[in-house]
Amino acid sequence: MLHTGGVTLAFDGERLLNAVDVARAALVDDGQQPGKHLDASPEGDWAVTHYFEADLAGYRGWQWCVVLAGAPESDDITVSEVVLLPGEGALLAPAWVPWNQRVVPGDLSPGDMLAADTDDVRLVPNQVDTGDEFRFESEDDAEEFGQIAGELGLGRRRLLSPEGRDEAAQRWYDGEHGPHSDMAAAATYHCATCGFYLPLSGALRPAFGVCANEYSADGRVVAADYGCGAHSDITAPSGDGSPAYDAYDDGALEIVSVAASADAGADATA
Ligand code: SF4
Repeated sequence: MLHTGGVTLAFDGERLLNAVDVARAALVDDGQQPGKHLDASPEGDWAVTHYFEADLAGYRGWQWCVVLAGAPESDDITVSEVVLLPGEGALLAPAWVPWNQRVVPGDLSPGDMLAADTDDVRLVPNQVDTGDEFRFESEDDAEEFGQIAGELGLGRRRLLSPEGRDEAAQRWYDGEHGPHSDMAAAATYHCATCGFYLPLSGALRPAFGVCANEYSADGRVVAADYGCGAHSDITAPSGDGSPAYDAYDDGALEIVSVAASADAGADATA
């Protein structure tokens, strides 16, 4: 019986623990060039793992591990396994992240496909597929129904879920066109009272709309309490030029004596 590191071996494990040369030879036979022997540890009753430095380009801190095995009533030592494993502080590749967790907003390019997961919480299945269910007496009926069906979401297989809607609303509210942005903080009026503001339909109507001002957030969803300096009620400043600055009178010149200026330059040099 052998006691090693608190583990009690049921066989003459010292033979395997001392078989460093056998483990090294296994590596050399495998075409490797093992470095210093680092450690040996028992693996259960009939096996020991030997660790060697691995001096391999690109594998800083990795170790060769050779597992030697014995057997009852046998003097033979078997090489069970030769592997390269990372040691403490080894250089490792970053943890693998599935592609769908690596995609970030802005990654989608023309021609790319990005399917929502079947269990995407942002979407729910639609209960009514208008497919061939409806027949129209006239084109007018079809147009009228089409408008109503579109607003209700009929004809779409999946609709935005309450979670998806809440997430979007929070994102927009906290974003560049929300009430806490620098632009909104500096604005005199809110979007809700602007002539360029197109309110959304549905549950988000009270809080969000789309800006239709090409000089501002044109085509973007803006919060009703966002605002900018291009609000439709802003009155133009009197006179010409930028409203932010007084006109610069470039006819008013300061006359500077050349001699005085040269003296000042000389003093500064001295
Ligand atoms: S112009 Fe300015 S205030 Fe008006 S809707 Fe667009 S962002 Fe809002």
